[in-house]
Amino acid sequence: MPPPPTDVIVIGGGPAGSSAATMLARQGVRVLLLERAQFPRDHVGESLLPASIPVLEELGVMPAIEQEGFLPKWGATMVWGSQTTPWTWRFSETNTRHPHSYQVWRPRFDQILLENCREWGVDVREGHQVTDLIFDGDRVVGVRFNAEGSPEQEAQAEYVVDATGQAGLVGRRLGLRRWDDFFKNLAVYAYFQGAHRIPHSVSERREGDENNIFIESYDQGWLWSIPLHNGLTSIGAVVDTAVGQQGISSLGALDFLHDQIQRSQYTSRMLQDSVMAAGPSVVRDWSYDSERLVGDGFVLAGDAGCFVDPLFSSGVHLALMSGVLAAAYVTTALKGGDIVGPAALAYQETYHNEYVQFRELARLFYSSNRSMDSYFWEARRISRYQDSSPRESFIRTVAGQSPRGYERAVINSGQAPPDFLEGVNDLEADLARRRALADSAPENFLWESRPVRLQGVQALRKPVVGQGEYVWGHMLTTPSRTEGVPVSGFVALLVSRLDGKATFSEMLASLGPQAPSPEMRAAALSTLKTLYTEGAIQVPGL
Ligand code: FAD
Repeated sequence: MPPPPTDVIVIGGGPAGSSAATMLARQGVRVLLLERAQFPRDHVGESLLPASIPVLEELGVMPAIEQEGFLPKWGATMVWGSQTTPWTWRFSETNTRHPHSYQVWRPRFDQILLENCREWGVDVREGHQVTDLIFDGDRVVGVRFNAEGSPEQEAQAEYVVDATGQAGLVGRRLGLRRWDDFFKNLAVYAYFQGAHRIPHSVSERREGDENNIFIESYDQGWLWSIPLHNGLTSIGAVVDTAVGQQGISSLGALDFLHDQIQRSQYTSRMLQDSVMAAGPSVVRDWSYDSERLVGDGFVLAGDAGCFVDPLFSSGVHLALMSGVLAAAYVTTALKGGDIVGPAALAYQETYHNEYVQFRELARLFYSSNRSMDSYFWEARRISRYQDSSPRESFIRTVAGQSPRGYERAVINSGQAPPDFLEGVNDLEADLARRRALADSAPENFLWESRPVRLQGVQALRKPVVGQGEYVWGHMLTTPSRTEGVPVSGFVALLVSRLDGKATFSEMLASLGPQAPSPEMRAAALSTLKTLYTEGAIQVPGL
């Protein structure tokens, strides 16, 4: 049956497409989702991050996910860095609200998300492959698609969301994709029945660690091992593309994967009593981003826009996050107004910054692995920073914040480049010094001080995501946080007035009542201290 008129066409029903479609439908937008496969369909990428939990809650799929019985994942156990014995990093170290995530069986996980968007009223068509875009001048106004057994059809809409994953229909058609030379890898993976869980020799193993993703670096790359609730274990080898292609063409994918497993110390033992139940599959694992994520009539979400090496299991998180934000942008664009252009930039910046953060972290991880001496690891050390110094990379990675979680793990368990460690030490010392000074400063001193905003610090009026759409808000940007941190209108006004001329009390009086209430005074002083600690302002004499 030909689809009825629609406002938005979403191409692809993976996590990015289904989250975008659901959020749009919830805003009352008419959505047609075209997916070429019939679900449940196979897909690699089973290990999720806790950052996805709030998005899954927002989409309303958590009850279905919990009911499915997916294994909870509490962290990652790795053979990586300076040690050849496994070490564990747990989410609880940085995320007390959501200290766990899940190891999901993707055919079913993706199906739950797709069913959810159907329930929200999205017109979901499986077995519908989009073959081309329809343009009006430079604007994308629709798509051509094939449904099995039917002649080619057309559908038009105000906006097209490209969520086609690595296929990247729009990005490829318009030549937007930019490949990352650092991560030209290839993955061979399969599912095993009867695999043992994480090695018992792991010191300090805690309850729940047996569900962790296990990552083992070995001479030719690294192996993942992800236990699943259906009794299978996903095992994959990530190797250099050229080495992988050559090995697969001479040995075949099956023997190549066995050979990689045999090279490992722990994974090989975990699999000694197992049998391969499905696979092997070979997938290209090159990282890329896109010149633009938004254009005339289209927006790219998930892997269709950016793909980052799977080391940190970030793909589904980026897909869900960008799907929700892409929906917010399209909702805004459908309403029109002067916010549309800035909202497009805001979407692009947020998604791209999140991608860059994972990419830089992965680069640091690769370059700080000293457990192996081999071509794979040496190449990733030599060429690790072609476009920036480790220090700049670090600043970008942690966005000027003290290292946490995985960043901390690189420092503790890897051999990070000296420049990187220097950057961390300087930053931490500076933060601690500023915090101590701010905390010990007498209130009256701060009250009568003449704070001044540092160069590169700005409080900008920018679009932020409100109830499913972009609305005008304020962002504080600093040289290390160029994407900005959302702040209230009050803080934005405060920052814009801190020019070193008026005292803090005079400046506050000019903004509101002459004599601020004790609560207002306390809140203003606390903001001042935070701005000072974060390095956004200078307080003469402090
Ligand atoms: P997809 O999930 O790929 O969905 C795209 C959909 O679009 C597909 O269903 C496809 O059939 C459909 N489609 C494509 N072209 C068309 C067309 N022309 N017409 C209609 N439909 C179309 N991520 C993690 O979070 N954890 C991991 O452990 C992890 N491991 C990974 C390991 C490897 C080796 C690789 C390569 C990736 C891994 N990922 C992992 C990444 C993760 O799989 C992806 O980031 C995620 O699936 C992206 O979701 P998406 O919705 O953007 O794309």
